[in-house]
Amino acid sequence: MMHIRDLVLYEASSGLKMATGLTTSDVDFSRLQNNFDKMKVGNSTKYFNHQVAAALKVYSIQMNRPEVLTTAFFIENVAEWFKIVTSRNLQTALSRKSPADYDRTVQFLNTFRCFIFRCKVGEKAYWKPWQAAMIMATDSLLRLQRYFLDRGYDFVLLARFTQDCVENIFSQLRAKCKTPRALQVKDNLKLITIGQIMEEVANSSYSYDPKEWLVSFSDKLNTARTTVPESTIPTVHIGNYWNATNNIGTFQASEENSIYYVAGVVLRSLLNRGTICDQCIKSCTDGNRNTGDLALLTSFRDYNGNALIYINLETYVFFSALEKIFAQNIVFLQTIKYDVNTFLYNLMIKVEAKHFASCHNIKDKIVNRFIIFRLRSSSTKPAREKRYDSKSMF
Ligand SMILES: [Zn+2]
Repeated sequence: MMHIRDLVLYEASSGLKMATGLTTSDVDFSRLQNNFDKMKVGNSTKYFNHQVAAALKVYSIQMNRPEVLTTAFFIENVAEWFKIVTSRNLQTALSRKSPADYDRTVQFLNTFRCFIFRCKVGEKAYWKPWQAAMIMATDSLLRLQRYFLDRGYDFVLLARFTQDCVENIFSQLRAKCKTPRALQVKDNLKLITIGQIMEEVANSSYSYDPKEWLVSFSDKLNTARTTVPESTIPTVHIGNYWNATNNIGTFQASEENSIYYVAGVVLRSLLNRGTICDQCIKSCTDGNRNTGDLALLTSFRDYNGNALIYINLETYVFFSALEKIFAQNIVFLQTIKYDVNTFLYNLMIKVEAKHFASCHNIKDKIVNRFIIFRLRSSSTKPAREKRYDSKSMF
């Protein structure tokens, strides 16, 4: 807990964070949590995910704290385990159709079981009930998947073994009638099923998504694009944005890593859309990976060493200039009704970048994509209502 807290405090002032899902209130472990909150899935997965693990590794290097790697290891393994046991799609399903992946997953679960068995919790090295629970869960899932695959099933989605839905339906039935007879169960089951389709269930654990934001979405767009008189826009000096050396060291080391990572994500999304070509990518990437410490986060989040894009130094300088423009203007932009995209675009497009290939107007595309990405990641998400937290049915 202390390692995660240190990480969050370390990058608390950064605009782009490595551990984007954690806020300072998430690491205030002195707050009392009620027992229902402790059981909720979302409250655990915000700490136990690959992103936090990679961020901890970078933090451990930047602050020279090797002991943090232990926490990173623990989080990484629990996150991987959680990903496997909650698999709900073909990408993560257990299947013998790809023997190498299947063997690796089964091997991981076996190793994980031993790891939890040998874990010593706290200074007094207690054995905790959650250890037994995790071992039992892993063990039964290993046996169940073997049972089904042996009988000719192509895929096994481990998330489907969850008992939450059964538990929920029983609790609904018992709420209607404490000790129902068979006929009452049958009748009430019908009523409950229809009731759930008709309206939102009080005190349910599932998140209800009315997609309200889609209603009058175009109106919202129009209000957002109402222009303000030119005179109310402050003059912004962009003089030094494209000065290469000027941007190195402007950001905290962790933020530099985040910018580097985000740049790769932006380029990947452009490449996937087919709007830029291999030549474009070649002009922004670093084949020899000479960017050193800037690429730490990217390399830790890269699960096989080839999945992510490693940009070159010139491209990093370009992106850090974009981030600087964004960070300096976002507070102002939030106070006015104005076409934010155009405003940012006009500033960012002036940043010089001579190294980009000229074939696909890549600078323009990067700027547009970056603005969308940054506006999305900087907008404050509405707080989830506490009672909707289990994701077990999705
Ligand atoms: Zn191109």
